[in-house]
Amino acid sequence: MSKGGGLKGSPLMTRRSVMGGMTAGALAPAVLRAAKSDNAAHVAVIGAGVFGAWTAEHLRRAGHRVTLVDMAGPANSRASSGGESRMTRGAYGRDNIYTRMAFDSLKEWKALSATSGLPIFIPHGVLFFFQTEEAYLSDSITAHRALGLPTELLSGAEMSRRFPMIDFTGIHAGLFEPGFGALMARRAVQTLVQRFVAAGGQYRQELTEVDQQSGPLKSVRFSSGSTLDADAFVFALGPWLPKFFPDVLGHRIFATRQEIFYFAAPEGDRRFLPEAMPGWADFNACDMYYGFPDLEARGVKFAHDQHGVAVDPDTQSREATRAALDEVIAFRDRRFPLLKGARLTGAEVCQYENSSNGDFLIDRHPAMHNVVLVGGGSGHGFKHGPEVGRLAAELISGGGAQSEPRFTLDTKAQTQSREVH
Ligand SMILES: Cc1cc2nc3c(=O)[nH]c(=O)nc-3n(C[C@H](O)[C@H](O)[C@H](O)COP(=O)(O)OP(=O)(O)OC[C@H]3O[C@@H](n4cnc5c(N)ncnc54)[C@H](O)[C@@H]3O)c2cc1C
Repeated sequence: MSKGGGLKGSPLMTRRSVMGGMTAGALAPAVLRAAKSDNAAHVAVIGAGVFGAWTAEHLRRAGHRVTLVDMAGPANSRASSGGESRMTRGAYGRDNIYTRMAFDSLKEWKALSATSGLPIFIPHGVLFFFQTEEAYLSDSITAHRALGLPTELLSGAEMSRRFPMIDFTGIHAGLFEPGFGALMARRAVQTLVQRFVAAGGQYRQELTEVDQQSGPLKSVRFSSGSTLDADAFVFALGPWLPKFFPDVLGHRIFATRQEIFYFAAPEGDRRFLPEAMPGWADFNACDMYYGFPDLEARGVKFAHDQHGVAVDPDTQSREATRAALDEVIAFRDRRFPLLKGARLTGAEVCQYENSSNGDFLIDRHPAMHNVVLVGGGSGHGFKHGPEVGRLAAELISGGGAQSEPRFTLDTKAQTQSREVH
């Protein structure tokens, strides 16, 4: 396989035979039978983004010998898990499976944050606001009530009073989640990997390649010349998954360009600090803009959640474009008029790794049954890292059932039609 590219060697399996060989994860036996800690299986996890790092950690906790590998470092700047901050929230409309996962994951994030020097979780609250009585709003409230979350339903007037840094003109209602907030993305994953290593896990920085497409995978090859044998393998390669497994995922994971901008708040103005300002999203009939307060003096963050153009994570330019900046500034000036003329303090260019509808992928490879594929975070995966890792680890060593049908390979269509927001 070439750098970041697909499987090497003769195409032993045609696309049709690979897809035809798929089994529903729910019916497949465990990749490994539960291993005892004195006789632990060796599992290699390739990709140390948020999904791979949490999968490795859960496998380690289950008593396995685990080697985590990344070609460029945990949450590196080209990975989808790189960059400064990610939002964690429980608002998911009718997709309350993600409300539950965000809620369960938050406990792990808080525990990790409590052990790290600088914070990983910043609980500034999250405010979603809506122009109309969207079903997303009422469905979210129902899900939050069921979980006992202290979510508040706010009127436009109440929001204007509490959050004077935002102009709520035309806004009907808001959903404020006081218990959620920001995750410091790169710091979170790097801290997790440090803890994993301190607790006995192995981490290696290697570009990984595989030479086969079917049968049990015995080993992976590193571009440095060595190989790594393992009993089972997890590939959590984010936007590189479709390049690495072109037959299986080439048309099922779609990498899109995303640009993020930071602006300086007016000097001396405390209204943009996390003590005063929440993370927010202007739902805007699913054409969402979102952002964060000025976290750790980086600047006030803005982004458009719309999928950008299709990109290759190896080759896409990491320079922000004038068009994306102008679009964000136009939104900013309308909703955050106090920031009119604010100076740009930074930009990040990243990519979403979308599944067809936004549901995650946690399933075994259809032709290599000791290989599990994890990905499809689709612009909302970070917050769920702990739960995704737990489910992936269970698929490897637990009872063998993929407990969530929405995360199987079979459900991943070949055309994009985003449903999860
Ligand atoms: C701009 C942006 C904003 C987002 N906002 C949010 C948000 O607010 N809230 C939220 O919950 N989620 C958000 N997300 C989504 C979330 O960040 C992603 O879903 C998640 O980080 C995906 O993680 P991953 O581990 O699947 O992939 P990645 O982080 O991309 O990890 C894959 C890793 O695999 C490694 N790799 C690839 N190929 C090889 C190889 N051949 N050998 C070895 N290593 C290899 C890469 O170096 C990389 O580190 C956002 C994403 C982006 C891009």
